Amino acid sequence: MTILVTGGAGYIGSHTCVELLQKGCEVVIADNFSNSSRDVPARIARIAGKQPQVCELDVADCQALEQIFAAQHIDAVIHFAGLKAVGESCQIPLRYYRNNLDTTLTLLETMERHGCAKLVFSSSATVYGPKNEIPYVEGMDTSATSPYGWTKVMIEQILRDYCAVNPDFSAVLLRYFNPIGAHESGLLGDDPNGIPNNLMPYIVRVAAGRLPNLTVFGGDYPTRDGTCLRDYLHVVDLAKGHLCALDYAQTHTGAEAFNLGTGDSVSVLELVRSFQRVNGVSVPYVIGGRRDGDLAEFYANPARARDELHWTAEKSVDDMCRDAWHFIQTRLSEA
Ligand code: NAD
Ligand code: UDP
Repeated sequence: MTILVTGGAGYIGSHTCVELLQKGCEVVIADNFSNSSRDVPARIARIAGKQPQVCELDVADCQALEQIFAAQHIDAVIHFAGLKAVGESCQIPLRYYRNNLDTTLTLLETMERHGCAKLVFSSSATVYGPKNEIPYVEGMDTSATSPYGWTKVMIEQILRDYCAVNPDFSAVLLRYFNPIGAHESGLLGDDPNGIPNNLMPYIVRVAAGRLPNLTVFGGDYPTRDGTCLRDYLHVVDLAKGHLCALDYAQTHTGAEAFNLGTGDSVSVLELVRSFQRVNGVSVPYVIGGRRDGDLAEFYANPARARDELHWTAEKSVDDMCRDAWHFIQTRLSEA
């Protein structure tokens, strides 16, 4: 099987490429490196013992994408490419709508021209919006609270509309909860430029002394310790979910959504304490005000992924903390 992986140099894409290559797939990465490093494909190859093909392009560039499909038979596509910062999407919404929708539309049109009918799409738990009860189940109504979230809701709808009139097409919509952690080799991980927005990249930088302290956004939520609860899952477990989704696409058509989460909730302070205990390091923090748009608590009902994709998250919060720390230490020792 030859799999096109858009955004394959990014955080989740790179881990997925490793799993695909290790399973014997041919991998074609299409990435413009707007949020990833050009050395990631070599790192993927070091771990997997096999090179991915790399095409540097904007996935919204119809002619460039056409060349990939013209050069080889693509059996299926995993579509990670997109912008993903919730806060930034509120500041520059048009850029988010343009990038995330254009990449998807161009990809679908190109797939159609070449008879490629299997797509796995990176959706998000954010599509459950602010009003649903927890745990989230796939049949719930979708909505969003940010332009980023709306791009995911819209793309899911585009894929449902497309499948409705293309009965041979399979679109697997994977709704990720909170992926953290890194590859156990220390070669791949979440390495955002500048000051991180997300919790785990912030924790590792504080632990490494690169930032003075973590600000916990809100200590007065109606939760067991006053801080927000999330469903954190290891990025390697998440990557493996994409291989299960590809298997599913072999025998199913239509647009189908699946939660990829553990079904457990962990508070901000619980994650900080686990990180300190597992790694024997200190993460100084202060309790600050709430962050706009944060929900107190959400986590997955992962039953559908377990029963139909045959996927379950296996790694623990301790694994996530250990691997995230190992990654940043490897990064620092390389610098
Ligand atoms: P990432 O930013 O690390 O990876 C995205 C990759 O896509 C990057 O390598 C970037 O350079 C590339 N890219 C962006 N726009 C492109 C374009 N127009 N053409 C070509 N390449 C382009 O993000 P990630 O964390 O790996 O997330 C991957 C996908 O999963 C995204 O669609 C994101 O919205 C979704 N998602 C992520 C999370 C999370 O917590 N990380 C949660 C839910 C959903
Ligand atoms: N968070 C925090 N301090 C930070 C970054 C995040 O307290 O510097 C909290 C945030 O309020 C949320 C949780 O950590 O409750 C997870 O945030 P993240 O941005 O990683 O994921 P998301 O908001 O998408 O669930």
